[in-house]
Amino acid sequence: MLTSIEGRTAIVTGGTKGIGRGIARVLARQGANVVLVSRTAGDGPEAVAEMEGVGGKAIHVAADVTDLAALEGVVAEAEATYGGLDILCANAGIFPQLKIVDMSPDDWDHVLQTNLKSSFLSVKAALPAFQKRGRGRVVLTSSITGPITGFPGWTHYGASKAGQLGFLKTAAMELSRYGVTINAVMPGNILTEGLEGLGQGYLDTMAASIPLKRLGDVEDIGNAALFFISDEAGYITGQTIVVDGGQTLPESLEAIAEI
Ligand code: NAP
Repeated sequence: MLTSIEGRTAIVTGGTKGIGRGIARVLARQGANVVLVSRTAGDGPEAVAEMEGVGGKAIHVAADVTDLAALEGVVAEAEATYGGLDILCANAGIFPQLKIVDMSPDDWDHVLQTNLKSSFLSVKAALPAFQKRGRGRVVLTSSITGPITGFPGWTHYGASKAGQLGFLKTAAMELSRYGVTINAVMPGNILTEGLEGLGQGYLDTMAASIPLKRLGDVEDIGNAALFFISDEAGYITGQTIVVDGGQTLPESLEAIAEI
C-alpha cells in the first residue's frame, strides 16, 4: 500500500486520451487533482467528468506541448486552481508511421519536437512550481520502441523515445537539488485510440507476439507511473521500467510458439 497522494496536483499531458487518460484516472482514483492537457478541447469535458467520477478533481487546459509559453500557462492554471504543482506526467506523443524513403525532414522534426523536445519544455515549465514546493515528481512516457526494439516506419519515433531516456539521465542529476525525481515508463503495445489507428491486423499480430497474450491496458502504465510518483519511490531517480507483458523477451517466433 502506497502513501496517499490525495490532494496532490498533477499535470498529465495527452491526458484526454489513451495512456495519458489512464495515468490521470489512476491518479484521480487516489484523490489527486489532475490537469489534463491536449491541443483540442473536444475530449476535455468528457475526460474531466471521468476523473471526477472516480474521486479526483480535474480541469482541462488546451495547450500544445511544443510551445513553452503554452506549457507555462498550464502550470499557472494548475497553481491558480489547486494552489501548486506536485507531479508532471510528460506523456503526450505521436507515432505516425513513415519509412525513411518517404520521410521528409519536416516529418522528422515534427515527431522529434512533439515527443522529445516536449519532455524538455514540460520539465522547464514545471520547474519553477516545483522549486516553490521544494519537491516534485516527473514521469516521462517513453517506449520500448527505440530504446530496445525497432519497427519499420518508426525511425523518427524510435529516436525520439530513446532520446527521452538520454534526457532523463542528466535531468535526474540537475533536478535532484530541487528535491525533484524524474523517471520513465517504457510501455509495450497498449490499447489506445492512437494504437487502434494502426488497424486490427496490427493489433492481432502484436497481441500474438506478447507472452502474456494481450495488449496492455492504459492503467497498466498508470499503475507504474503511480509507483514512481509515490513517496515510497522517493529514492529512485533517472530510472526506467518496462511495462510490456513480456513482449521484449522472446528470442524468436519459435520461442513464442513454445509458450
Ligand atoms: P493517443 O491515444 O493518440 O493519445 C495522445 C494524446 O496526446 C491525446 O490526448 C492527444 O490530444 C495528445 N497530444 C498529441 N499531440 C499533442 C501536442 N502536440 N500537444 C498536446 N497534446 C498532444 O496516444 P497514446 O497511444 O495514448 O500514446 C501516449 C504516449 O504513450 C505517447 O508518448 C506514445 O509515444 C507513448 N506510447 C504509446 C504506446 C502504445 O502502445 N499506445 C506504446 C509506447 C509508448 P490532442 O490530439 O487533442 O492534442
